[in-house]
Parts: sequence; structure tokens; C-alpha cells
Amino acid sequence: MPVVAAGASYAGALPDPPTPPDPPAVPDPPTPPDPPAVPTAPAVPTTGVGVVSPHLDDAALSCAGLLAGRPASSMVTVFAGGPRSVDPLTEWEAVSGCFSPGDDIVGARRHEDRAAAAVLGATPVHLDHWDHQYRTSLYGYRGPTGDAELIRAVTADLATVIAESTHRTWVFPLGLSHPDHRLAAAAALGVIEDHPDREWLIYDDLPYAVYLPGAVDAAVAALVSRGWALEPAAGVIPRDPLTDHGTKGRAVRCYHSQVRSLGEATTVALDAPERIRRLVRG
Ligand SMILES: [Zn+2]
Repeated sequence: MPVVAAGASYAGALPDPPTPPDPPAVPDPPTPPDPPAVPTAPAVPTTGVGVVSPHLDDAALSCAGLLAGRPASSMVTVFAGGPRSVDPLTEWEAVSGCFSPGDDIVGARRHEDRAAAAVLGATPVHLDHWDHQYRTSLYGYRGPTGDAELIRAVTADLATVIAESTHRTWVFPLGLSHPDHRLAAAAALGVIEDHPDREWLIYDDLPYAVYLPGAVDAAVAALVSRGWALEPAAGVIPRDPLTDHGTKGRAVRCYHSQVRSLGEATTVALDAPERIRRLVRG
């Protein structure tokens, strides 16, 4: 016998099955901590910079990429001086095949430098210190002779140029191999202490740095021993490397007489990456 009449509601006759309890909450996996920030080197401004060049070609050989991206820079050549006429030719000049005894070779090389600076959109500045190859009585040299005396004289001139310039960033050579490169580097170091407001960068001298990697290490070690350190400098060469290479090639080939003497070293300098680092207290 049914106990419930036909048509009567059956609801409530049986209890609903119990609702199963919610499963225990699965905790979210812990959020991994942010990776430690990798310090990025501060970028070198893209405004004009000052480059200290030992000779009439070194700024282009070592820093054309840097300069090409920074119009209105200055190329300050330290040893841009010499006799009004050169007789006899030095071995370097004889190899070039570009000159005859008695030529105004310094004038010709300054002209080459002005052409290269125009390619790079830079202003050339020529100091009158005589190139190493002319600092003998044979050519009538009567300037400073010893290294210490020369460094003092160059430091004084660089200090004047830098103090009168509006460039906040200055770049000078590591000072590899050639006596004039070492003197220019030492003289520039002498200016830094009086200008802590400026940004100081150092470039590897090309092509020497390619041929003499041990000299690079030795020069850096010498800086470290004096309490300095070299750090990466970001954004040094911000433009398309291919474009810069082309610009650099055009600038370097303006030094017609030097390219002839440098031979394959010109290609080595053009192919080598420019290395420019920030100089800081260690
Ligand atoms: Zn040089």
C-alpha cells in the first residue's frame, strides 16, 4: 500500500543529501621573489663630447663611432705641432709616399684632420705640442723635453681647453704603446682632479689595442694601482653599427697620408669594435 496519495507532493519526504564540504582550499603557490635588479651602466649622453687625441688621426681611428652619434663634439689633438717644413722626411713620412723634403707636413695633416672632423660633425682643436718624431734638434725643437715637463705643459693646455668648453663628457686614450699616447693619457689624468663635475671616459687606442692586448691589461692595471677603475659605459655607440662603420671609414680615409703608412692596420682599426669605458674612483 502506498502511504502517499496520488498527486500529493513527495518533496520533503526524504531529506536532501548532505552537501559535501568544500574541498580544502589549495593555497596559491608562493609568488617567486623578483629577481635582483641588474645594475645598468648609466648611458653616455648623446650630446657633444670632447675627445683627446694624441695625434692627427687617433680620435677617428678609436672614437669615430662615438663621435658620429654626437654631433657638435670636439676633437682635441695634443701633438698637432711640428716644424713649418720637414727636411729630411721621417721614416714614417717616407713610407707614406705623400711628401717631399721641405713640405709643410704638419699643415697637410691638420688639413686632413679638418676634413675628417667635418665628416663626423665635430670641431677640430689643434694644440701646438710637437709630434714625437720631430722633438729633436734636427728639426729645431726647443720645447719641453723630459716626460714630466711635457706632461705638465700638456696638462695645462688641456685644462684650459676643458675649462672653456661646454662639454660635460670628456674621452681620452688609455695610452698604449706610442710615447705620445702615454703622455696624452698621463696629461689628461692630471686634469681630472680639478674637474670632478665632468664625466670621464677612456678609449682603447686603435689599432694598438688589437695588436697589443697585454698593453691594454698593463695600462688598466696601472690605473687600478693609482686608485682608479674602469666600468662599462652604456649607449656609447647608439647608432646602427653598419652606418657607423661607413661613417668611420669615410672619416679615417680623410687621413690620406696616414692611411698609406698604416697599411693593413687601417682595416684592423676599422674592423675592431671601439671600446670606451667610464673612469671612476675604485
Ligand atoms: Zn697616434
